[in-house]
Amino acid sequence: MARSSSPKSSSKSNLDGFSAAQVFEKDQGITYKDFLILPGYIDFAPQDVSLETRITRNVKTKLPLISSPMDTVTESQMAITMALLGGIGIIHSNFSIEEQSAQVERVKRYENGFITDPIVLSPRHTIADIDNIAERYGFHGVPITEDGTLMTKVVGIVANRDVDFEKNRNLPLAKVMTTELVTAPKGVSLVEANEILRKSKKGKLPIIDKNGRLVALMSRTDLKKNREYPLATKDDQKRLRVGAAVSTHPHDRERIESLISRGVDLLVVDSAQGYSKFQIDLLKELKKKHPEVDIMAGNVVTREQGEALIKAGADALRIGMGPGSICITQDTMACGRSQATAVYYTALMAAKHKIPVIADGGIGNIGDIAKALAVGGSAAMCGSLLAGSKEAPGEYYYENGVRLKKFRGMASIEAMEGSGGGAKRYNVEDQKIRVAQGVSGAVVDKGSLFEFVPYLMQGVRHALQDMGCRDIPALHKALYSSKLRFEPRSLAAQAQGGVHGLYSYKKPIIGAE
Ligand code: NAD
Ligand code: IMP
Repeated sequence: MARSSSPKSSSKSNLDGFSAAQVFEKDQGITYKDFLILPGYIDFAPQDVSLETRITRNVKTKLPLISSPMDTVTESQMAITMALLGGIGIIHSNFSIEEQSAQVERVKRYENGFITDPIVLSPRHTIADIDNIAERYGFHGVPITEDGTLMTKVVGIVANRDVDFEKNRNLPLAKVMTTELVTAPKGVSLVEANEILRKSKKGKLPIIDKNGRLVALMSRTDLKKNREYPLATKDDQKRLRVGAAVSTHPHDRERIESLISRGVDLLVVDSAQGYSKFQIDLLKELKKKHPEVDIMAGNVVTREQGEALIKAGADALRIGMGPGSICITQDTMACGRSQATAVYYTALMAAKHKIPVIADGGIGNIGDIAKALAVGGSAAMCGSLLAGSKEAPGEYYYENGVRLKKFRGMASIEAMEGSGGGAKRYNVEDQKIRVAQGVSGAVVDKGSLFEFVPYLMQGVRHALQDMGCRDIPALHKALYSSKLRFEPRSLAAQAQGGVHGLYSYKKPIIGAE
């Protein structure tokens, strides 16, 4: 769909501003704050704007938002939430191979409303084990299977009332568990399972396969939370999609095989400088061995770098060297590129190959996401923006009365010394001198992504509406036909474009600095 045409047909002569080519041809790299997009013609509402996009050759999402593979951003809870809401999460690789693979599996096994990795005990466990679970997790209701594991036969269930008044806490659960069970078969819909729970007045509903083995659990306390997610990013078996980061180091070949065997949808080759023999060899090898798995390659910032990776088989490019909020790469390595310029040029090249580019790093507010899309990006990858959310790893803490979460660069000293993949990647064990490319810090509480992501995306819909574009393909068409008009802005104009001249004001969730 084309950018909307104004009623007074616009000849070239009355077009204000500049084409993207004119703006980016200048002898200075620029980024999002340096320019604005001139408004287009509106003949549709924000809710008419579709944000559907293609993030790799074969993976589509309803929202152009990806959570970054950082150990303070994307683990399974973040990835599940991002996929439910319409984006996607990339599980970081600062994990052992087994831990990262288990995280991927958790996302793939997730079923909205169902607990697919419930805590299970055997009839030989005791009431004291139930007490421990209650103390740690706050609930007593536990399904009992033959072996005390998932995928073995369900033989009972223990609820609070079964153990509450029992004095002997060493009694085996076989003596107290309820064996008259209400269960539901695997494949039951959320609505049907909800109805069974409601009618049976039970607290927990075991979901079993045709051999009576436990495959999932549904909990009455979660009933109210269950809702449908129409934008969810799913594969053709209706499982949530998830990506995972890998490195080009030889020891990660085993990681790649393990992630693929657990159903990962997309691999992200996670490197600050992706234009290397290491990455090109890996891409060629993987495309031959696993053509079914899409690979996002990077990071790159020039056309030469990007084209080499596309020719080696990349299904998407990740763009950004140095724009990240925690990044000191440009100061330390002297290499990198201003982010809007990097996204524009790489996207221009990649569009010829029909390969999407992902604008990674430096996204601080809604306008940055919209601008990243307007200069050719197919989605924004975010670290700091999502790091303070409830769904990001880590606990909240307070500093000067402000509620914070820890956030750190993957190439910060702290992350490199981490116990997972980081230490190995940097050969920390045998390397005395480590040059950090990132810092450790903290970000402010963003609340839950279930509210924050819809807020961000509604903002992006408004931005596209103002530009006169109903969807991302239309925006890119307008960009490449020079219909989308840009204008650089001076430092004074930037200052005026933000809140100014007030003694105090109340900040929105994000957007005002
Ligand atoms: P990397 O694993 O790609 O590189 C680490 C070092 O190992 C580099 O010196 C690299 O040249 C070398 N190396 C890579 N593959 C090799 C191989 N097969 N054989 C021998 N040596 C090899 O990781 P990185 O580039 O340092 O990035 C680490 C993390 O930090 C990533 O999560 C990355 O996204 C992040 N980071 C990002 C940026 C950015 O601007 N986007 C900048 C710095 C760091
Ligand atoms: P942010 O959204 O501005 O916080 O940037 C997140 C991006 O920064 C990530 O997706 C990575 O590309 C990049 N990044 C992650 N860790 C580091 C680091 O230690 N140094 C530099 N860049 C990093």
